[in-house]
Amino acid sequence: MDNISLPYKIENVSAHGRVVRLGSVINEILSRHDYPEPVSALLGEAVVLTAMMASILKFEGRFVIQTQSDGPVSMLVCDARADGSLRGYAKLDEEAFAALGESPTQQDMLGTGHIAFTVDQGADMERYQGIVPLEDNLLTAALAYFAGSEQVQTHVKLTAMPLFRPGGDMEWRAGGIMIQQTALQGGSDTGRTSTQDDWVRMQTLMETTEPDELLDPELSPEQLVYRLYNEDGVRVFDVKDFSFNCGCSRTRIQNMLNSFPEEDILSMQEDGLVTVTCEFCSEVYQFDAQLLKDDPIT
Ligand SMILES: [Zn+2]
Repeated sequence: MDNISLPYKIENVSAHGRVVRLGSVINEILSRHDYPEPVSALLGEAVVLTAMMASILKFEGRFVIQTQSDGPVSMLVCDARADGSLRGYAKLDEEAFAALGESPTQQDMLGTGHIAFTVDQGADMERYQGIVPLEDNLLTAALAYFAGSEQVQTHVKLTAMPLFRPGGDMEWRAGGIMIQQTALQGGSDTGRTSTQDDWVRMQTLMETTEPDELLDPELSPEQLVYRLYNEDGVRVFDVKDFSFNCGCSRTRIQNMLNSFPEEDILSMQEDGLVTVTCEFCSEVYQFDAQLLKDDPIT
């Protein structure tokens, strides 16, 4: 079962979480770019984190995760729309990346900066943004966000990797798991009272999850949570589905170009054509510069 977020709840110890598993969706997102493998893996993890958080938050419009930092990967942008469509891209300085040598860490690639978590619900709606420092890797930044915004103990694991099919074809897969301590309402828990030791045990169990288990097409997310938490009374709920759908279109890009002043259009044109490449999906759109100039929609 791919391209989903599966919510679960552990009844006996006041904890809940999500398992995210992305197959064809992450493969589509990453295949549309030509990033070095470590950069694809980094973006893949960022997309998993986006899907995970989007499946927890209630929102209309878009949920966006964006990094800005001083490393060779100076920016990652991922978003999820309320309908479950996901997309993402990375801004990469290839020379600076090459200078990192073999197997760079996330910290090497990102450097330091910050990461913004934004719920953008459209022009007239409330916009919410949380910003945390990015000093180490995506995971520590995400945990800092959870600690600050939700103020409940949270543990997360993220992974993204290419898998090789028997025929030699490569396919990206990505996955993640998170567990959160359920806030006790008013401190009156009528059932068995869970203790800090229980919570530590839940985290420890989660930490035993191997990247393989998060990605394995033969092991469903449901089987994974039962494998981890069966003895503690785990229940699963309806999944949220994800898809790839960039949402860019010729009309949208033309509208954007039409809002530019004429001299900008002229400076962008080459042999009479203005070429725009969508950063998210690498789709190339070409326009006749003369027509853009003569026929502004606005
Ligand atoms: Zn696009």
